[in-house]
Amino acid sequence: MNNQTATITGHRGLDHNEPLIFELDTPGQSGVDLPAPPDVNSRMGSHARNKPVGLPGISEPRVVRHYHRLSRMNYSIDGGFYPLGSCTMKYNPRINEKLARLPGLGDLHPLQPEKTVQGALELMHSCADWLMTLTGMPGIALSPGAGAQGELVGLMAIRSALEARGNPRKLVLVPESAHGTNPASAHACGYAVRSIPDDERGRVDFEAFQNALDEDVAALMLTNPSTCGLFENDIIRIADALHEAGAFFYCDGANFNAMVGRVRPGDLGIDTMHLNLHKTFSTPHGGGGPGSGPVVFSEALMPFAPLPAIEIKDGQFQLIEHIQDSGDSPFGRVKGFHGQFGMFVRAVAYMLSLGSDGLRQVSSDAVLNANYLLSQLDDVLHLPFEGPCMHEVLFDDRSLKDTGVTTLDIAKALLDEGFHPMTIYFPLVVHGAMLMEPTETESKKTLDSYIKALRGLIEQSHAGQSEKMHNAPQLTPRRRLDETAAARHPILRWNPKTEKTAE
Ligand SMILES: *Cc1c(COP(=O)(O)O)cnc(C)c1O
Repeated sequence: MNNQTATITGHRGLDHNEPLIFELDTPGQSGVDLPAPPDVNSRMGSHARNKPVGLPGISEPRVVRHYHRLSRMNYSIDGGFYPLGSCTMKYNPRINEKLARLPGLGDLHPLQPEKTVQGALELMHSCADWLMTLTGMPGIALSPGAGAQGELVGLMAIRSALEARGNPRKLVLVPESAHGTNPASAHACGYAVRSIPDDERGRVDFEAFQNALDEDVAALMLTNPSTCGLFENDIIRIADALHEAGAFFYCDGANFNAMVGRVRPGDLGIDTMHLNLHKTFSTPHGGGGPGSGPVVFSEALMPFAPLPAIEIKDGQFQLIEHIQDSGDSPFGRVKGFHGQFGMFVRAVAYMLSLGSDGLRQVSSDAVLNANYLLSQLDDVLHLPFEGPCMHEVLFDDRSLKDTGVTTLDIAKALLDEGFHPMTIYFPLVVHGAMLMEPTETESKKTLDSYIKALRGLIEQSHAGQSEKMHNAPQLTPRRRLDETAAARHPILRWNPKTEKTAE
């Protein structure tokens, strides 16, 4: 804070400089007024606690204010534009939330008898049906808890199918531009990873892929459109080559928002793909609610899908929960109960409210918005791969060369301008990446103000204002953090003796 804006209290207007809750400790204060506990220590013997727990003493109103003030420091999709590439931070429609809170849906217990939850099973069945229709795939597992778990489940099905043929094989091919979860999932499933380079168009280098494809390869994991925001033009050739080699085709479907309603991955020869309901299907991200990563399967992999599955028998919806009842699935369950039911409710609400024509419009508008950013920024930022792009646009830092300003500086300066930054330094295939995904839910007005801010910052960088960029952000609750020190010497614990945080 510079002198002009320095305050006596350290607060910034009505935004308070909130301390840690341990720093608010007032011994003896309490938010609850309970009678003294009965003498439980005599029963605990040597296991009894002989020191206080070390929780801070704090009154109820102060606790409420503490967490309320912290929540006001958060940025959210309800608070502003969120151009994070690869994340599909689209608006979460309020109707979804309203429906998910209906007592008949929100108050269900996962152990209720099937005959009392027929409506919920029908809803799950309908969610599955929509997702299979949109992807053109005949099988699905709803239960995986996020995209990354969906990847693991898809690969486990592939491993099982190969084992059933007698040899699980050893390798999974992953393009260089892939999301980090892809090689991690392959590794977690017991495969070694062989990296495939991109070509000069930002697509998988087909020749390198062909050379890497041998009888040890279990699968290729491909993101389409790729994390460079580009459609893989060779995808049919890639699928054919994989199948000819006896391998499977895993598609990372995190970018399905670019194709939903227009392209059915099943028609492209894909064997299995996860869908992120918290991306394409508008359910909340991260802290806003659990993720959900249903996985679709081709005919060849259907027998190896995990449980539970839903079947209709004699007009009743039934859950198949046990391996002995399914006759197929070799690895059973991957998640407690049935997956994130509340997210299925929201996704179905989203799909029903848009309809098939509306979903088609989603992908058109998402691609249009990304190309609008491309067209308004490509004279000030360098495009490493020629457009048009799909639902996200990738720039690198070449145009900032000689300014002393980095991709990180631009991201931090955007915070002062009231915008969440774009995804930075990912994908790794270009230098100083800036990956922007506006999604279909942003208006031209919002995009124009973001473009204006970004163009202004780039202009200032060229006008010798690198100092300002290095010191950004100035107007946020916290200034620029020392990220190296935070990673090397994390301070994670409050020491009540010294009243200091300790490493
Ligand atoms: C988000 C994302 C994932 C992982 O999905 P989670 O739901 O975050 O686990 C995988 N691949 C790509 C390309 C993604 O964007």
